[in-house]
Amino acid sequence: MRQSRSIIAALVSPLVASILLSSPASVGEVKAAAKIAKARLKPLQSAAKCEMPRFRIVVDVGHTPESYGALSARNDPEFGFNFRLARLITAKLRSEGFAATRLLVTDGKARPSLFKRVSVANDGKTDLFLSVHHDSVPDRLLETWEFDGANSYFSDRFSGHSLFVSERNPHFTTSLTLARMIGRQLKEQGLHYASQYTLPVMGRYRRQLLDKDVGVYRYDGLVVLSQTRSAAVLLEAGSIINRDEEMAMNSSERQDLIAGAVAAAVGEFCARR
Ligand SMILES: [Zn+2]
Repeated sequence: MRQSRSIIAALVSPLVASILLSSPASVGEVKAAAKIAKARLKPLQSAAKCEMPRFRIVVDVGHTPESYGALSARNDPEFGFNFRLARLITAKLRSEGFAATRLLVTDGKARPSLFKRVSVANDGKTDLFLSVHHDSVPDRLLETWEFDGANSYFSDRFSGHSLFVSERNPHFTTSLTLARMIGRQLKEQGLHYASQYTLPVMGRYRRQLLDKDVGVYRYDGLVVLSQTRSAAVLLEAGSIINRDEEMAMNSSERQDLIAGAVAAAVGEFCARR
């Protein structure tokens, strides 16, 4: 709905001058960190021992206010869902001791925004890049219904979260390990993963399932997974084109559950280093 979109824009736009790095780090500190990062060997960046307060996690809000991603069954843009959940995940990680966690909000058109994300991740000596999204379905699976007086689209056929990693990422194994830990935590919370990505009906969206127990897929074509020099995972937190799941994703209970699961997985990941 137009109204909901403007509410989200009002909520986010003051924060989105270009890129929001919600951490106490100054520009000088970031530049200094970038210099150090350049001097480091790539493999050390994500293979280094994990000290919670120094471990640099970037929580990326998928899409931008202008290029908002999918539209939910009730016509709310994906960007708003991503923003609310990513902000919660960031807060949760910080409260659990990952003080260097940053929320990354990007503006502008879709494609340039991907490279902005990658450049922030790579310049900022990031240890872990986590991109937060919400899922939809290919257009040809959409059905129509009327919501709030407007012709709207939905598909109740699929539901669940999914995790994506790229084999082109220099820390593919590390990324896969973390994705599996997140998937495991989500499963332990009683949530199920979206299994449709292996099906022919998904067409060009079909993916290789790397972990059939917890729903980790391979997706090499994603810029934020393949071009980042740190370990990188993309989380599709749930389907907002599914009418029931959209309601669930809007609830603070589900958001808390997912944020808690992600934070627990990152905690476990760090403890094992
Ligand atoms: Zn998305």
